[in-house]
Amino acid sequence: MTTATKEEIKINTMKALVYHGPGNKAWEDKPKASLQKNTDAVVRITTSTICGTDLHIMKGDVPAVTDGRILGHEGIGIVEEVGAGVTGFKKGDKVLISCVTSCGKCDYCKKGMYSHCRDGGWILGNTIDGTQAEYVRIPHADNSLYRLPEGADENAYVMLSDIFPTGFECGVLNGQVKPGDKVAIVGSGPIGMAALLTAQFYSPAEIIMIDMDENRLQVAKSFGATKTVNSTDGKAVEAVLALTGGEGVDVAIEAVGVPSSFLTCQGIIAPGGRIANIGVHGKPVELHLEKLWDRNIAITTRLVDTVTIPMLLKVVQSGKLDAKKLGTHSFKLSEVVAAYETFGNAAKEKALKVILKG
Ligand SMILES: [Zn+2]
Ligand SMILES: [Zn+2]
Repeated sequence: MTTATKEEIKINTMKALVYHGPGNKAWEDKPKASLQKNTDAVVRITTSTICGTDLHIMKGDVPAVTDGRILGHEGIGIVEEVGAGVTGFKKGDKVLISCVTSCGKCDYCKKGMYSHCRDGGWILGNTIDGTQAEYVRIPHADNSLYRLPEGADENAYVMLSDIFPTGFECGVLNGQVKPGDKVAIVGSGPIGMAALLTAQFYSPAEIIMIDMDENRLQVAKSFGATKTVNSTDGKAVEAVLALTGGEGVDVAIEAVGVPSSFLTCQGIIAPGGRIANIGVHGKPVELHLEKLWDRNIAITTRLVDTVTIPMLLKVVQSGKLDAKKLGTHSFKLSEVVAAYETFGNAAKEKALKVILKG
């Protein structure tokens, strides 16, 4: 038996943001991420970010996340090591990590529903260790990583791990935004903003952004919102109806995840309209079928599949989507605790996405 030298211990450890129950987290030493199956890759994180979902986890809203878990499900990095079964990537490749892990082979994956992969889905920073760390293990690397061009602006592309596919797939695609449509987006956080930016692929006539934070509404205007509604007075429905000649909107996108915002969507939807829910709901929501049953509307829900990442990569590369502008603050990865503080006080700090640099 030999005892490990200090140097060997250092090689086999890494720093990571570790969850220790509601309200408790720390940047501390963990065993370095390593291959467990031959379809895994280990990625050295160069850019990561914090998601609203991470704040929910910190409040204890996601009981699947247990003490000792490394948080984070968004990131970019350099492939450090691949298992023998990984054919699409090799050491040294620069990659985007999807927030959703997928095998690409099961029945759900074959339908393009990666979010419900039999051996994946949203597991990173949830039921397995995540990306707010120096290294992360990515299962099913071939289907869960995307190659990035050399010199790619990581602060732009990191928004494609989660925010843009989520806003686009759950909001814009499920809401079937069409040319000439009137669209309302309830919630002007990063996800609502991603829906706002990607809805413009389809040239809607109006995009009305709704939020309680006046700064975010001003930013939304600079991102292409045609009108804004400050809902602090609780009268968002009346305001949107007034802006649409009493008719309401063709598409109402819910990007908050609380009962009142889903109620707003029900109050502003025009006949034939679509309500697309994005928000993560922790409480029951009232459904007013007595008012909606004869209005020919559709209500959709979705967990992001990230199947649109290849398309979004091309749009960002072409310069037609300025993803970078969602990043408002930048920290070193080792300052992640301070970054949570800033992101948790988003209104005061005027924060959208907070970038972490490895
Ligand atoms: Zn997220
Ligand atoms: Zn699968």
